[in-house]
Amino acid sequence: MRVGLSIGGGISAMEQVDPRDLAADGFAAVFIACYEDEMRWHAETAAHFSRECQSAGLEVFAVPLGYGKVMAPDPSTESLYVSEHPQNCQLDSRGRRVPRACPNNPAFLEWFSSNMRTLAWLLECRGFLWDEPGFHFSRGAWACRCRWCQRLFFARFERQLPLELTPEVERFRRESLLMFLLAAAAAVKAVDRRLVSAVMPGSSATSREAGLGSDALEGLADASAVEALSVYVPWQSEGRDMEIALQNTWKQLADAVDAAGKGSMLWIGGSPHPRDRLLEAIEVAAAAGVPLLVIAGHQTLTASVAYERFRPRLSQTIRRIEGRSTRSASH
Ligand SMILES: [Zn+2]
Repeated sequence: MRVGLSIGGGISAMEQVDPRDLAADGFAAVFIACYEDEMRWHAETAAHFSRECQSAGLEVFAVPLGYGKVMAPDPSTESLYVSEHPQNCQLDSRGRRVPRACPNNPAFLEWFSSNMRTLAWLLECRGFLWDEPGFHFSRGAWACRCRWCQRLFFARFERQLPLELTPEVERFRRESLLMFLLAAAAAVKAVDRRLVSAVMPGSSATSREAGLGSDALEGLADASAVEALSVYVPWQSEGRDMEIALQNTWKQLADAVDAAGKGSMLWIGGSPHPRDRLLEAIEVAAAAGVPLLVIAGHQTLTASVAYERFRPRLSQTIRRIEGRSTRSASH
């Protein structure tokens, strides 16, 4: 098993992290958050950082965040596109614009694709991770009912888009997001066909309302936009047993991707604090057969004050499970 690290925090984190340290600690991959509003001015810093990661032997995945906030696991992420183009944002079932671009809006789609092509040109990387793409949903109101969505729904189902979130509407939202992901994958592949398109469906209880949830992994693994599926295991916040949560989630994920012949990765939150049981979690994931375990993230782990003391043990654990998988792969 290989272990990756997700580096949120944008440009300031990239300026603090030395990729050679990460490689020395045993990390094999990094997932770099690329924020829309920062990339306008600091794209060179991100490009430099990804090059340094590559030369340190780390596999790099770009994680675009903001960009109209279709991919917005964190609602506080800013998007200049959203503030400058309210007319391209989602319209909810109460007729209000919400601060998230509509993935069915052709003008937004064009802007988004062009930005992803630029990112793909700039960053030397293995692929892109599309993080929790979704439609707006809150307290009984859902989106999107903009004219593009109405038109597409009518063309697809030959009736008006209902006001209620019917199973048909759920299907429409899901298919819309998969079409959007297909466009996103096509945009980066236009630059380099080898770039992997990985998708992280929402893991929270509301992810189903957002349109794509990790509760329907099989359907997602089958989608042509998805080359690798990435699933976050929030065992801490859900108060679940770590071992059971990791093993069960991995089993569901492995079943889905094996049947579809796609790649996979599992994410966990991690810190040096004993309550996060990070070293044990790495052992459990390796024993279960997870190919790539990504630790989210840099702030709670590698940038934390307790990291220096934790480092030797973490690095030993990673080396140990690495050695194990190498042996089993060679025999
Ligand atoms: Zn719409």
